[in-house]
Amino acid sequence: MARTHFRESLSNRTVILGDGAMGTMLQSVGLVQGQAPEEWNVEQPEKVLAVHRAYIEAGSNAIQTNSFGGNRLRLALHGWEQRSAEVNRHAAEIARKAAGEAVFVGGSVGPTGSVLEPYGDLSFDEAKDAFVEQVLALAEGGVDYFIIETMSDLEELRAALEAVRENTDLPAMCTMTFDTHLHTMMGISPEQAVSRLTELGADLIGANCGNGPEEIEAVIQKMRSIQPDALFATQANAGIPHLEGGRTVYGASPQRMAEYALRMKALGVKYIGACCGNTPAHVRAMAEALQSD
Ligand SMILES: [Zn+2]
Repeated sequence: MARTHFRESLSNRTVILGDGAMGTMLQSVGLVQGQAPEEWNVEQPEKVLAVHRAYIEAGSNAIQTNSFGGNRLRLALHGWEQRSAEVNRHAAEIARKAAGEAVFVGGSVGPTGSVLEPYGDLSFDEAKDAFVEQVLALAEGGVDYFIIETMSDLEELRAALEAVRENTDLPAMCTMTFDTHLHTMMGISPEQAVSRLTELGADLIGANCGNGPEEIEAVIQKMRSIQPDALFATQANAGIPHLEGGRTVYGASPQRMAEYALRMKALGVKYIGACCGNTPAHVRAMAEALQSD
């Protein structure tokens, strides 16, 4: 069964190919700006399912649930805070339905959107409670591992990782976004991140989102210089985002993402996926490049 198999797959040399963007894809089929993508796990599940299927068909052997903003603190922006457990359970069930037992399902856990004390108002315990609710629902829905991603604060990341550790026995991949001069928005360097995440026992460590493949590559090189034996994970955006008529646009072609996948493999990255702006065409190019390498 897929569930035990994910941890086993971490100990062999095979690269795991993740998927591409979810939000970008849902917007292309009618999700409006300002609407929470997670609402569609309940209201338009067939559209979420279709995105997962497109990535699997493109060659992903791991997909991630449509639950990035599914913690109750973030859902509160959309008036959905009471429905966190429901949207996360559905997210996992939809992904599991697409994946069957042949493809891994990662439960996506993104930031709360609030800043933790002492810089902001949110306490560690409030953040952790919200993550516990999300993690339990994703586990109930059948995920194989967790993807704690796009984090900029190590304490918030710890809250999410403890939620996983204390409530499930599933592996956790932890990635931060180093989009501010190779630091996170909260000033964390790749070296600090990899040291702390190793200490906290993250199963996979790395970077996602941000300013495209080159930034991610620089981050992994820095992480590797401190922890050469860590298992690394990367999910790069399709290039540097820019605004075009009020919409965020990403310019990297499938070919550029294929080159990114090969560079990550050469760096020894275990889990290679893609973040905002990437489509099944990008993932297909990555899959073909990795296969013929
Ligand atoms: Zn992204």
